[in-house]
Formats: sequence, structure tokens, C-alpha cells
Amino acid sequence: MAPHGTTNRYRHYACRCDLCRQAQNTTQRAYRNSRGLVDATPVRERLVFLRENGVRLTRVAELSGWSKQSLWAIADGRQEKCSADLAEDVLAVRAPWESAA
Ligand SMILES: [Zn+2]
Repeated sequence: MAPHGTTNRYRHYACRCDLCRQAQNTTQRAYRNSRGLVDATPVRERLVFLRENGVRLTRVAELSGWSKQSLWAIADGRQEKCSADLAEDVLAVRAPWESAA
């Protein structure tokens, strides 16, 4: 039997534990996002800008709806491309004072 945290386990053994659901969600999301990968540089710059202005990555994750892990991978340069959806969501995150403008 496939281990927990795999889509195989989710699909073929109908396991709905947190790990398996997470694996399934991640895969579905990746599939939906296959419409295109974009250069992650603007996203990284945005994350740096937000951090320098007191908006922590955890907060960006909350606001954008993306996991802290995916944002980290971009922030520290490990990931050079990201989905167009992620870029859109992160670039839409505003620092508190920006929403007033
Ligand atoms: Zn499971």
C-alpha cells in the first residue's frame, strides 16, 4: 500500500487523512496551474519588498492563499519559476499602508 501523503493512497485506498488530502490538493493545484509557469523574479522582489516593510512571509501566505513553503522556495531563490496564479496572488498582496493609496 502506498504511504500516507501520496495521491496514490488518496485515490486507490480512499484515505482522507490530512497528509493524503494535502498531497491530493497539491497535485490538483499543480494540474490547474499547468496553464503556465512564469519567471518568479517579480514575485521574489515583491516578497523581499514586503518583508523589508514588515509584512512577514507567514502573513503573505495567509493573504495570498499559498503555502509558506512555496513562498519560501521563491523567496530564497531555490525556485526560479512559479505558476501564473501564484504570481498573480502574491503580487496582489498589499502592505497595510498601500491599501490606503
Ligand atoms: Zn492517508
